[in-house]
Formats: sequence, C-alpha cells, structure tokens
Amino acid sequence: MDKIMERILPRVQKPARYTGGEYGQTVKELSAVKTRFAFCFPDTYEIGMSNLGMRILYGVLNEMEGVWCERVFAPWGDMEDQLRKNGIPLYTLESGDPVRDFDIVAFSLGYEMAYTNVLNMLDLAGLPIRAEDRGDGFPLVIAGGTSCLNPEPLAAFIDLFLLGEGEESLPELVKIYEDSRLSGETRESFLKKAAKIEGIYVPSLYEVSYNGDGTIKSITPKDGAPKKIRKRIIKNLDAAFFPDKTIIPSTEIVHDREVLELFRGCIRGCRFCQAGYVYRPVRRRSPEVLAEHARASLDYSGYEEMTLSSLSTSDYRGLRPLCDDLLAHCEARSVSLSLPSLRADNFSVELMERVQKVRRTGLTFAPEAGSQRLRDVINKNVREEDLLNTCGIAFEGGWNTIKLYFMLGLPTETDEDVTAINDLVNKVVHVWHQRAKNKARGLRITVSTSCFVPKPHTPFQWEAQVTREEYMRRVALLRSVMRSKSVTYNWHDADTSYIEACLSRGDRKMGDVLEKVWRTGGKLDAWSEYFSMERWLNAFISCGVSPEFYAFRERGEDEVFPWSHIDVGVEPEFFLYQRHEAYNERVTPDCRAACLNCGALSLCPEVGCDA
Ligand code: SF4
Repeated sequence: MDKIMERILPRVQKPARYTGGEYGQTVKELSAVKTRFAFCFPDTYEIGMSNLGMRILYGVLNEMEGVWCERVFAPWGDMEDQLRKNGIPLYTLESGDPVRDFDIVAFSLGYEMAYTNVLNMLDLAGLPIRAEDRGDGFPLVIAGGTSCLNPEPLAAFIDLFLLGEGEESLPELVKIYEDSRLSGETRESFLKKAAKIEGIYVPSLYEVSYNGDGTIKSITPKDGAPKKIRKRIIKNLDAAFFPDKTIIPSTEIVHDREVLELFRGCIRGCRFCQAGYVYRPVRRRSPEVLAEHARASLDYSGYEEMTLSSLSTSDYRGLRPLCDDLLAHCEARSVSLSLPSLRADNFSVELMERVQKVRRTGLTFAPEAGSQRLRDVINKNVREEDLLNTCGIAFEGGWNTIKLYFMLGLPTETDEDVTAINDLVNKVVHVWHQRAKNKARGLRITVSTSCFVPKPHTPFQWEAQVTREEYMRRVALLRSVMRSKSVTYNWHDADTSYIEACLSRGDRKMGDVLEKVWRTGGKLDAWSEYFSMERWLNAFISCGVSPEFYAFRERGEDEVFPWSHIDVGVEPEFFLYQRHEAYNERVTPDCRAACLNCGALSLCPEVGCDA
C-alpha cells in the first residue's frame, strides 16, 4: 500500500472498506489476464459484500481463463474527499489499480436510490459520465440487476445492460468483447453485434419519441437491434455456478453470514411485488445440491450462521428434510440456520424450534395490509386467522418478539384499511394473552409501514403513488389509533419513496435530472445523512421535468411504458388481468394450486415451471 494511502486511511471511517486483501479474494497474475473486469457495487462495502448476485458473478468471472474480476464499492463521503483532495482515482480492492485502466466497468443495480453513485463512481474513476462521451479506448460500461428492467433513466450513462440473470450472458459478453478488442473492432460495431445477444440491451440503438402530453409515443430500434429485449434466465440451477468460496470481509457487513439460495421466482403472485414476477418462472435447486453447497461453503468460510434465502423460503418443497439434513452438519459446528421470508399461512413451529436450536431470533411476517379486503386486492392470499393462528403457535413455542411489515398507499386503500392494521395488531396482542407459554418477558411487537412504490413489470405498474402528504396523513391516522404498550410503530420516510417512484418508472428525461442532482452534490441517496429532497426538487425544476408526472399519475391501460420494449417473460396481458382482479377484490390461486399461464413458461418450455 503506497505512502498516500497509509496517510489517508487512518483519517477515514472503517478504513477496512478500502484495503482489500480479504481471505477468499481472487488475485491473478497480470501476465495471464486478457480482460480486466471492474465489478462496481454502487453503495458501501458493507452493503455490496452482502449481495448474493455480486458473490455469484464474481465467482463466475474469475473461473474464466484470462479474465480477472475485481471489486469496487462506493466510497463514503470522507474517503471520497480524501481521494479527490489527493488526486487518487477510484481503484479496485484486489490490485489497487485505477478503474479507468480496466476493459469493462460493470454496475450491479438493485435499488434506484443508488443511481447517483453510478455517476459519482464513473467521475471518481476519471471517466466521462455520458456514454456518448466515451468512444473507443474507454472501458465498456455495463449494468445488470433488477432495476435494469426499466433501464431508461440510466440510458445516457451506460453502454449496454444485461437483463435478467447473468451467469451465462456475462461470460458470453466478455468473450465477444475480448475478441472484438483484440481484433481492433470499433465500439460502435461491437455494440451492434452485442445487441443481437439475447438479454443485452444497447440503449443507443433505440430512438424514443414522445407525445405532446409527455407520454411515450414509440421506442424504435435501429441497426438491426431487436424490437423487444428478452431477459435471460438460468434454466437449470442445480448445474449453475454457486459461490462455495465466499470472501470473508475485513469489517462487519450487513448480512455477515453464508447465504444458500434455494430457488428463484415465487409461486405466490402478490400484485405489488416486482421480484415475484421478474424472477419467474420458478426454478429450484435440489436438496442434494443445496446440502453439498451448504457444507462446502460453511467449511470454507467458518461462518456461524447460514440463511436459507429465496423470495418465500417456507414454500420450498422439502424444506423440512433439507433443514434436518443441514442441521446434522450445523449443530456439530454451532452454526445456526435462519429462515428469512416466512409466510404466515405455512409456518411450522417444529421447524422453527429445530432451526433456531443454536440461536433463537425473533419472527418476521409481512401481512402488508391490515384488512382482508385489501390483502385480497394485493393478492397476498393470507387470511387473518392464518396470521393469528401462526402467532399463537409461536407464542406457545416461547417466542415473544414479532415484526410485522405493512405498506401504506396501496391501490384502493381506505382509512378503514389503515386502521385495520391496528385492529389486526390488537388481535395478535390478544392471542398472546391467551396462548403465550412464557409471559414473564412480556410481548414486543414492531410494526413497520413503508410507502407503496408502483413498480414496472407488476400488475400495479399503472397505479399512481399516493402523495407524500397523503402518506403522512395515513401514518398519523395509524399512530392516532395505535395505543398498545407492547407495540412499537416505525414508518419509512415518504421523500425517498417519492424519488424511488420517479426513478423506477421514469424515462430518459430522468437521466437529465439524475445528472443535475449529481452535479449539485447528490450521492449516497439511500442514506439519510446524504439524501436531500431539496436538491432533487431543484433538479426537477431546473430540468423542466415534473416528478408528479412519474410518481402521482395513473397510466392509461394503452400507454407505452418506458420499459415496454423489455420482455420479462410474463405477458403484459397477464399483468392487466391481475390488475382487473385486484379492482374486483378477487384473489387468484398460487402457481402450485393452478398455473394461470402468465407467459413465463415460454422462457424455458423444456424445463417447465418448478412451482
Ligand atoms: S407459468 Fe404458470 S406456474 Fe409458472 S410462474 Fe407462470 S403462472 Fe406460475
């Protein structure tokens, strides 16, 4: 580490974020490397190092001969000041080399509030932020991740997007880019070729035209680019790469444990949930393969906790035998298993007691809505008695802390639905008094509400978001009725949800706003220390763009969306059908009960939907 870094690091918070050298990182001989890949996570080390997608793709790329993938995270403000003050360009953790000297600079995008970090990291690397200003000789700047399923707000800054799962498409792209570079092909000609690979979207090859009212008129491909870009999926997860060798972070991270991914997709079809639709069709890993990965990764990392992750872990067929199999290995090593996303309608106390034998943690359920009517509108398919019975079983099992997650601002929501949250919580308290085995420690319920953000590629993609004032009025209403001493109520901030709504359903005009926010100091917007609503509002004004147009406006059912050229497999007609069922307050069965032919099967007809 050079003298400057030795001088700088003692002056910044958590210097271990910036040093690299962790157990498990990949270092390669430069002479054996043909492609240098800088994998940028647009948030801090603690967040990025917890990201499973990054762990997987880091491993996939470093398994490729001649390819060296290195990590980069967004610096915290104090470190950024030091880098700028000392003229040090953004560097990778493995080699410490400047990102601008790499062949490919890639961003993993899972949250819209990280977008200003993308621009900031490009600038810290000494690269022009706009793609049009980066010709031949500059690194290829790419992005992937769920947020890219509406890539338009970032279209001006990214050369190409990888849509869907990257385990196969990323190595394909790296290979053709390597050949293209080594054959001296121009960037322009390479991009035209890349646009023909399924799952790759090159925004510069699409013209967007607008109607007088600001809505999109058409999105027109040119130079042979496809009309629709279809996301990529991994059809056989058992055969897919899984990171058994995790990098052990040098400082505490958000999810500091092993993660075992059980399956992708979800059978449930909650109408607000983007992940539940964009990861379809449902594909799972077999218990045998999972047990192998679990043993290998735990033995390699020495972690004392492992999460069995998916969108709805309690829906994994064979969860009980899998846990029994894993527990045999874990108990001997005092490793605890955690089951993150539990549903209130298929909770098993026996399973929980076994899983939490090593370390007991609280229980978390997400009813999302207080009234049965509204739970039916959002197709949550959880009945009140399911939740109350599950809580009762848990209280008999000795649990006394429960977290309950709800949203406010859902389509068709009334004040009765809002106060119904309190009614439901009071019933949980009542069940505790009736059934709790151990009352000595008292009951602690944490209720959290977030502001509903309508997302692309969901049945609610047409909905208007409630205004911030209306969201806060509903928060105040709920606070006014929530009296129980056993209950703590937390609510999310409305401002970030408002900006998130503008970015997640924005078009290319949002790119100008994004640049303006960044040029006026915007970065780390996912952190309250850095987020400034005033800065965002000023940027909208100076760009002549209306945030209400993106957030608070209901879309016509025949409107062209900024993401209408992105195909996630689920048919647009299916989303519309589900929207109508929502307004009729009707639920539809989950995929295990009946296949509703959403269209996702077309992505892997030969494998089928492993619902
Ligand atoms: S194809 Fe059928 S079973 Fe598969 S995700 Fe769609 S609705 Fe569910």
